[in-house]
Amino acid sequence: MINRVVVLGGGTAGWMTAAALAKSLSGGPVSITLVESEAIGTVGVGEATIPPIMIYNNALGISEAEFVRATKATFKLGIEFANWKRKGVSYFHPFGMIGSDMDGISFMHYWLRWRKNGGAADFLNFNAEACAAREKKFAWVEEEPGPKMLPDVNYAYHFDAGLYAKFLREFAEARGVQRIEGAVCDVAQNPDSGDITSLTLEGGRRIEGDLFIDCSGFRGLLIEKTYNAGYEDWSHWLPVDSAVAVPSASSGELLPYTRSIAHEAGWQWRIPLQHRVGNGYVYCSKYITDDMARSVLLNNLDGEALAEPRYLRFKTGVRKKSWVNNCIAVGLSAGFLEPLESTSIHLIQRAIHKILAMFPRRTIQPCLVERFNQEMYQEYDEVKDFLIAHYAITERDDSPFWQYVRNMAVPDSLRQKLEVFKERGEVLINKHDMFRETSWFSVLMGQGVEPEGYHPVADTISDEQLRMRMTHIRHAVEKRVSMLPKHGDFVKKHYM
Ligand SMILES: Cc1cc2nc3c(=O)[nH]c(=O)nc-3n(C[C@H](O)[C@H](O)[C@H](O)COP(=O)(O)OP(=O)(O)OC[C@H]3O[C@@H](n4cnc5c(N)ncnc54)[C@H](O)[C@@H]3O)c2cc1C
Repeated sequence: MINRVVVLGGGTAGWMTAAALAKSLSGGPVSITLVESEAIGTVGVGEATIPPIMIYNNALGISEAEFVRATKATFKLGIEFANWKRKGVSYFHPFGMIGSDMDGISFMHYWLRWRKNGGAADFLNFNAEACAAREKKFAWVEEEPGPKMLPDVNYAYHFDAGLYAKFLREFAEARGVQRIEGAVCDVAQNPDSGDITSLTLEGGRRIEGDLFIDCSGFRGLLIEKTYNAGYEDWSHWLPVDSAVAVPSASSGELLPYTRSIAHEAGWQWRIPLQHRVGNGYVYCSKYITDDMARSVLLNNLDGEALAEPRYLRFKTGVRKKSWVNNCIAVGLSAGFLEPLESTSIHLIQRAIHKILAMFPRRTIQPCLVERFNQEMYQEYDEVKDFLIAHYAITERDDSPFWQYVRNMAVPDSLRQKLEVFKERGEVLINKHDMFRETSWFSVLMGQGVEPEGYHPVADTISDEQLRMRMTHIRHAVEKRVSMLPKHGDFVKKHYM
């Protein structure tokens, strides 16, 4: 029987997993133990999220107000990409829908026709999140009585990673998770099955278990060091391999979005929180030294640096198998795709969702393990293509880094997507893909890919009908945004 779950690691992955398992399984026969080492510490930098984080919070019954206060969070409506297409040009990748789908096809086909006929050139005028972000506004949308007339505002959060882990730790411990402090120095396995039987801490204490969740970060202490599950290296497509991070003092208006600013050998994030701004330069060490990267970062802060910059190293890619025997890798131990679209915490969430759906009771069935591995691989693979697109489609050739990425061969799956998009403005997506049409459209258009055509159904309405539809949606977006307060005022009023 699988009665004892041991989570190794107390970073975002470890505490998200422990909290979710505790919420779902407490009260039954399954005990949950989490082992972490304060001396080893966590990466502590995952601070921007995407909207499905609501699904996780809601499933745990977490109150938004409590969560936003505890983690000093702010609200995120999308990401601004500066200098990605070329220096001096910015575009926005918003959450939520652009317009609304009509007659079975995406709104974007109508917009492409509209623009061809001389209509307004900016498709983001039809997206409430982008319009609110431009005006630095945010508020949740109150439920409206009667039929819905105004678009929702979709959002995610920026939060303090350390405070998030603390918040989840309190949640998990209140539901029976036992936390053990200490560094694991040995792993015992059953000589016949190869299953892990216990972890030994420095000092000799042993922690036995039936199922081990490896949340040990880049080390992959169980999944790789014990099981050699293998790593598929994607650094030829996503060549950034280092980051230098530093918090800075807040200055100016509180932005409701993440900023991603491309530099000579990578890009810089700016994540606004209630009490500080998170900053980091993600770069490729082949093209810039650590010292140079540090000075680029420090020269591009909006406020005074609040700590010494910290360096991080990584290799983009995915673990070939994230479940082996009785060990499942979650978080950085399962793979890392770089933080460009804030997807890592979401991938943690996807893994937790699947672990709960497939939670073994009596035995671990190989077919379920295989399914888990296939599904997790697909999750990473799909995100990978979206991230590569940001680099591969650029006009920049002003440094060896940009020359490399704009000339690299892209995966076939991405090449096909780009070909279809250029020909007919259509985005090929799979049913469960995380990034939907709005995301691909915003990024591809933002990076300068212009579709030559659009879907023929968009030609089946009259010019007047098209004008009326476009005007109606535009007015609804304007009305929604006009009702929103400034993001900074909203956060201050409700959470500070
Ligand atoms: C530069 C950078 C920027 C990022 N930005 C974002 C972002 O904006 N949004 C996003 O979604 N994600 C982001 N991420 C990813 C995000 O930080 C991680 O997905 C998230 O923090 C989960 O990390 P983790 O818990 O897997 O690993 P870690 O935080 O490294 O935690 C590992 C844990 O394992 C423990 N441990 C390790 N070895 C042992 C041992 N021998 N004994 C006992 N304990 C041990 C450690 O003490 C620690 O508690 C970013 C990552 C990087 C590198």
